[in-house]
Amino acid sequence: MIDEQKYKDMLSEIIEHYGLYAQFDQLVEESAELIQSINKFKRSCGNGQPVEINRLRALTRVLEEIADVEVCIDQIKLHSPDNVILIDDIKFSKAKRQADRINGGTQNDT
Ligand SMILES: [Mg+2]
Repeated sequence: MIDEQKYKDMLSEIIEHYGLYAQFDQLVEESAELIQSINKFKRSCGNGQPVEINRLRALTRVLEEIADVEVCIDQIKLHSPDNVILIDDIKFSKAKRQADRINGGTQNDT
């Protein structure tokens, strides 16, 4: 387990130092790295052009990039705590829409 308060204190320090817009830029960069790592992991599993990295190392890289993305998102949420409730509401409605689709509900929404 991580020390949640220490983690939040560090995130606050980082976003105060760099600013919100710089951390949005960082999120874009980390998201691109996550996409690339997922593609490489899939290739390490035999989907597409072969890669030299083994499957375990490729999976570890995906996990590292997920952590990088989450750190950026956590910073942005800390910077805008009022939006966290809105984000949670949107997450719930999107998950519900997907579940409804699986269960034969609407299929035209994105
Ligand atoms: Mg990264």
